[in-house]
Amino acid sequence: MPSVLVVEDDQFVRSALIRHLTEAGHTVRSVGTALEALREVAHLRFDVVILDLGLPDLDGAEALKMLRGITDVPVIIATARDDESEIVRLLNDGADDYLTKPFSVEHLSARIAAVLRRARATSEEAAPSSVVRVGGLAIDPLRRQAELDGTRLDLTRREFDLLTFLASRPGVVVARKELLAEVWQQSYGDDQTIDVHLSWLRRKLGETAARPRYLHTLRGVGVKLEPPV
Ligand code: CA
Repeated sequence: MPSVLVVEDDQFVRSALIRHLTEAGHTVRSVGTALEALREVAHLRFDVVILDLGLPDLDGAEALKMLRGITDVPVIIATARDDESEIVRLLNDGADDYLTKPFSVEHLSARIAAVLRRARATSEEAAPSSVVRVGGLAIDPLRRQAELDGTRLDLTRREFDLLTFLASRPGVVVARKELLAEVWQQSYGDDQTIDVHLSWLRRKLGETAARPRYLHTLRGVGVKLEPPV
């Protein structure tokens, strides 16, 4: 299921987009400012971003530039401005496509499908190396594959997300609350969920809480992943 980030401050347009995209079978998250969008793409993987140019905090061109600074995710610009030179400039600045408001749902869906097709073709061709390595761990977020000392790990989606999140900040103690928010995308929940997943992950990494190698739990504080000494 393709995941879409909708960046749109107009509540009405936003709910309409969410409804239509969800009906079209996409997983949708939405935010109303450029800064929130940057936060989202820094933490989560999206297949496409729909970016409104008229946002309250940052100019659209600025927002696009900052997005491009952290991610290669396809970006479709949604603009009320029917300004050709502006659109050309944005396409040169890394936008993948654009739509002029008001646009139909069918039009948007067609653009999304085209962008996804292109992105898929490119990733298959180029296979960019975005592999995260920590000690003997190698995690490929693009292919959603992880290896430990050259052996493929058989992880569930959640275990993979958890491992990737921790491995992308090695040595940093992450609070359970943050894991809940970032990996489970919940603002509340009980620690047990996390502990259970951590223990499964631990088993797959061939270690125990008593004899940790990569995963270290700091009681009452959080958990960190670092290479074994
Ligand atoms: Ca707007």
